Amino acid sequence: AVPTAVMVATGRGANYGILIKGGEALQRLEKIDTIVLDKTGTITAGRPEVTDFFLAASDDDAARTQSPSAVEDHVLLVTAALERASEHPLAEAIVQYAVARGLNLPQAEEFESLPGLGVVGVVDGETLLIGNTALMNKNGVLVEPMVSTAERMSEEGKTPLWIAIEGRLAAVLAVADTIKPGSIDAVRKMHDEGLRVVMLTGDNERTAHAIAQRVGVDEVLAGVLPAGKVEAVKRLQAEGRVVAMVGDGVNDAPALAQADVGLTMASGADIAMEAGDVTLMRSDLTGVAAAITLSRGTMRVMR
Ligand code: ADP
Ligand code: MG
Repeated sequence: AVPTAVMVATGRGANYGILIKGGEALQRLEKIDTIVLDKTGTITAGRPEVTDFFLAASDDDAARTQSPSAVEDHVLLVTAALERASEHPLAEAIVQYAVARGLNLPQAEEFESLPGLGVVGVVDGETLLIGNTALMNKNGVLVEPMVSTAERMSEEGKTPLWIAIEGRLAAVLAVADTIKPGSIDAVRKMHDEGLRVVMLTGDNERTAHAIAQRVGVDEVLAGVLPAGKVEAVKRLQAEGRVVAMVGDGVNDAPALAQADVGLTMASGADIAMEAGDVTLMRSDLTGVAAAITLSRGTMRVMR
């Protein structure tokens, strides 16, 4: 039987927009010592925007006879055309940027999404690769000439994306997301509760660290492929930690189910909500800190 104090606390949580699936979840929440936060859509707003776009120096004669802005338009056009087929928030940012520039996007002839890496496909007869360094390395695209540009972007907390056309580096662009109001404060409250705060992301190490530092998280697990998120939670549990996971995406669902307590935002994917134990009506992290405080207060009363 669920103790009365737990039922009361569950009701009180609901008043604050914290929906706890049963008293057991509340009891488990009290015992956590580690909180794992997904980056995109959880710590950050998940509505990134393109902030920078740089063409690679070309050794192609045809390209050299064109004006730089015509080349830029072409690269951006094919890039956005391919990204239009992707559902990733990064893709949406690129499409919006191209449309705002007045570009009319053709239909991609081929498209494949490579989770955690990027996209590949054909537009206007040209083969394109768009994504992170791992994707370029796998396909033998040399990014060396623009590595320092990409590193500068990362250090500013932006996510650099490489664009290769016909196996050659064509451009690098940066996409930036904003930290949600409440994230910094919520992490501080988690620290006040004595929790270790871990950020889990598919994004690159440098960008992840730049954002982690601003938000105050203790540990960063970056470059994690979607399937690797659940493994990361298992590894922490194997170290003897009691883990709460906070996520919003379809990719986060297995990790949310694996965690001792899974918390999701009502604004996230339905499958994430189903996998979680706690749903937060507000789409920021303040509810997470509040849920933990609530669980601890309740259990103290009961002892
Ligand atoms: P997260 O949700 O944790 O930020 P993802 O696993 O969704 O991470 O993505 C990881 C990385 O894969 C991105 O940072 C990006 O480099 C690359 N990527 C994923 N989808 C796309 C896409 N549509 N276009 C370009 N790059 C992508
Ligand atoms: Mg996410």
